[in-house]
Amino acid sequence: MEFVKAMRKATNIKVLAILMIALIFSMYQETPAQRKKPAAKKPAPVETKPIVSSTDISYTVSMTKPWTHLLEVEMRYKAQNMPAMVELKMPVWTPGSYLIREYARHVEDFTAKDANGKGLMWQKINKNTWQVDTKGAKEIVARYNVYANELTVRTNELNDQHAFFNNSALLMFPKDGLNQPSTVRVVPYGNWKVATGLPKVENQTNTFRAENFDILYDSPFEVGNFVETTFVFRGVPHRLIFEGEGNYDVQKTAKDIEKIVAQGVEIFGDIPYKDYLFIVNLRGGGGLEHLNSTALQWNKFAFKPEASYKSFLNLVAHEYFHLWNVKRIRPDALGPFDYENENYTKLLWVAEGGTAYYEGVLLRRAGLNTDKEVLSSKTALIQALQNRPGRTETSLENASFDAWIKYYRPDENAVNNQISYYDKGELVNFLLDIEIRAASKGAKSMDDVMRYLYSEFSKKNRNFTPEDFQRTTEIMAGKSLNDFFSKYVRGTEEIDYNRILNGMGLRINLESDAKKQAFLGGNLAQDGEKLMIRALGSDVPAYQFGLNTGDQIVAIDGNRASQTFLTNYLNEKKPGDKLKLTVFRFDTLRDIEVTLGGRGKQDYAIVPVENPSEEQKRLYQDYLKAPLK
Ligand SMILES: [Zn+2]
Repeated sequence: MEFVKAMRKATNIKVLAILMIALIFSMYQETPAQRKKPAAKKPAPVETKPIVSSTDISYTVSMTKPWTHLLEVEMRYKAQNMPAMVELKMPVWTPGSYLIREYARHVEDFTAKDANGKGLMWQKINKNTWQVDTKGAKEIVARYNVYANELTVRTNELNDQHAFFNNSALLMFPKDGLNQPSTVRVVPYGNWKVATGLPKVENQTNTFRAENFDILYDSPFEVGNFVETTFVFRGVPHRLIFEGEGNYDVQKTAKDIEKIVAQGVEIFGDIPYKDYLFIVNLRGGGGLEHLNSTALQWNKFAFKPEASYKSFLNLVAHEYFHLWNVKRIRPDALGPFDYENENYTKLLWVAEGGTAYYEGVLLRRAGLNTDKEVLSSKTALIQALQNRPGRTETSLENASFDAWIKYYRPDENAVNNQISYYDKGELVNFLLDIEIRAASKGAKSMDDVMRYLYSEFSKKNRNFTPEDFQRTTEIMAGKSLNDFFSKYVRGTEEIDYNRILNGMGLRINLESDAKKQAFLGGNLAQDGEKLMIRALGSDVPAYQFGLNTGDQIVAIDGNRASQTFLTNYLNEKKPGDKLKLTVFRFDTLRDIEVTLGGRGKQDYAIVPVENPSEEQKRLYQDYLKAPLK
């Protein structure tokens, strides 16, 4: 669109000026690489040298035939004492997305040579390891292609429009070499531009340096003709790029994001990066957090209406807040990373749930949403949790721990045996914040918990454990919260919402219809001519009388079944009436008789208590920046 192109021109001049400023500031700011904690397991020296190109590991990423979706990688690896056999490995997952993704399956055309171009023998010794016989060479040159045709925030895409790639899904690491620095040179297709959070190597085109592989794998690249702008907050440049056309307003979005950045920095008091990059691709949805960048996806025409734009800002706030919560304030197992196995932690309810909680907090403080919007988002979480049988099966800690096999691999039974550590995590962080504020009479809040974790763990190069987290909240509350944690974090007890909400002068209002409607239950979907059962909670009549997920309902009391028919028919029935459902289960027709249950409307709302005290009013005002009413 035209306005987009004009914007691109106007912003380029600004970008130049800002880069000059950035250069000056970069002399005084630590890079994320320098800030990166040396690992307990794998210590790395603090890096204070200027960016230089000389590294023993260097990659060149080319894209000469974008239509093939093949990213071409050349990896040069030098070693003084090169082992007789070198093992080059592809990560099997990428941090922030807790699923084994087997990136090695996209590797093609692997070859290995010495520096003189003489071929070296190699073999695969497991799913993600290429073992090269170095024959005494001091340098090996491995070349391979990676098929890149999946645009998500944790995969790669190359086509005639652009390239987006995650280094963890593209670049091999040498065994035992995760602490080594490396450089990446990108050879863009045509006149495409390159964006990444990695620092540039001086005097070299499109060449970037990473101090170790946790930094390298933390830094996605966007290569294309993206639209861009930069804003400077407290001297630190923040670059915002949109890949493709859409109904976004670059300048307005940059202004709103700056307000979010300001609120994040306000909490922690410093800016722990020397520049930050927001990458927005305009398909799909979701985001992935990094130390000084984030990859976001949003539908190209979903920047309007206002509600949809606010959802986008929520996503931005989420990924941005992660630069502290999870990228620097790190749960026990989350960094330095093991790229070949699952990394288990019970703390995703803090890393993800806590970050989801701070989305609304940052937007509220930035004036981008209202107090009522914050509360209604929590109401929706309460409603969803209370309608989910899985809440009595899985605790927050267990849901976190099993993310690898459950949250990222939901099946039709998930509603019965799982909860989301995002959703219940957000809710429990919200309630914990109220507990702390009420117990400390407003002196402390979850902000203090975050600041404490930042200063006592992140800045002291320590990861935190579940015990550390509980202890920190107890320091702020000034009392034991063991009951809260054992019931709602480690356990699966029903949450006593009203006791906690009362601290801020709030309560749950449950609007129930006394008149119960006939109720079958289940998640049904009309798929063309077919009425299908997609999922069944264990607490609904359809489940209890023997229907299965995957059943196709063909007839209801002898009438052709459809979603519309069923809805209308149930309106004519009352609780206790019987229905004969004729269903195809696999390839066999059968009849199932169901006795209908009764269900009234159950609408939750968070409302003020009657006659709130002055203290309740003060705590509400302090938290939600609006009077309690
Ligand atoms: Zn997240």
